Amino acid sequence: MLPVYSVVVPAYNEQEVITESYNRLTKVMKSIGETYELLFVNDGSKDNTANIIAGFCQNDESVRLINFTRNFGHMAAISAGMENARGQAIFIIDADLQDPPEIFPEMAEKWKEGYHVVYGKRTKRKGESFFKKLTAKVFYRFLRSMTSVDLPSDTGEFRLIDRKVCDAVNKLPEKNRYIRGLVSWVGFKQTPVEYVREERFAGTTKYPFRKMMAFAMDAITSFSHKPLKLATTLGMIISIASFLYILLVLYQHFFTDLNIAGWASTIAAILLTQGIVLMILGLMGEYIGRIYSELQNRPTYIIQEIIEKEEK
Ligand code: UDP
Ligand code: MG
Repeated sequence: MLPVYSVVVPAYNEQEVITESYNRLTKVMKSIGETYELLFVNDGSKDNTANIIAGFCQNDESVRLINFTRNFGHMAAISAGMENARGQAIFIIDADLQDPPEIFPEMAEKWKEGYHVVYGKRTKRKGESFFKKLTAKVFYRFLRSMTSVDLPSDTGEFRLIDRKVCDAVNKLPEKNRYIRGLVSWVGFKQTPVEYVREERFAGTTKYPFRKMMAFAMDAITSFSHKPLKLATTLGMIISIASFLYILLVLYQHFFTDLNIAGWASTIAAILLTQGIVLMILGLMGEYIGRIYSELQNRPTYIIQEIIEKEEK
């Protein structure tokens, strides 16, 4: 029988917290009192995460486990969860319990009122470094200013989505999946539920600075072409400035005695333009790289196996 709710939980090296997650999720889902499944996606963990979850599957038929063949990333794990979820409403939550599953009933309530997307909005973030909070804040404001899609700020993947939304997002063909952006992009009726983001229950962040940068780039390039236009604008400004400067140089050459001066300004101008040209090239590279990976059309992830208890 198909469950009413699915809970998608991506997990990468979460052995310290996964048991607690399972217990808390089970408790909350039981309290709602309708059928549910817990769908864990093990994103190529190198620790004991997979075995621990497989253990839950043996005793509890509401647990299913998707094992990837290697680490494909947080967004890929959520995509796999969404594609394999069978519920009428799908919760998405991190394994680390930073987002409280205890507000699921409130989210479910809103869903029953007729909202298709109920997203968690963080009012506070506890136990995260000043740097992480600052970069996150700047990033979301920046991203919002760059795109015409209404992307809510201070929102992660923590949310409930209706079956219709899930199907619509699953149908989107892109491989670089910035999920929260895609969910906003498909539209439907959305509403926030506010909450306080807690410290990680255990373990450390699986998003080092490098992954965070890649994530930010994915988000921006998937939802905005403005950086490319920025290149044009910058190029135009530089060209006009250079043209004026040439006029000045010519004037100095023909009408004054200053024609040897200007070594410093020449070097400055060369360095400046070189810098900008390189930056723009890099930017183009980012987009071209993504066009290339979409063209290669490789799957977002590869599933090694799905583990669940046989239904009797
Ligand atoms: N995660 C994943 N694959 C990865 C990195 C992270 O599935 O390559 C999962 C991780 O197990 C957690 C969620 O994505 O459930 C969010 O990661 P994390 O809590 O480390 O990120 P943060 O909250 O620090 O941004
Ligand atoms: Mg976390």
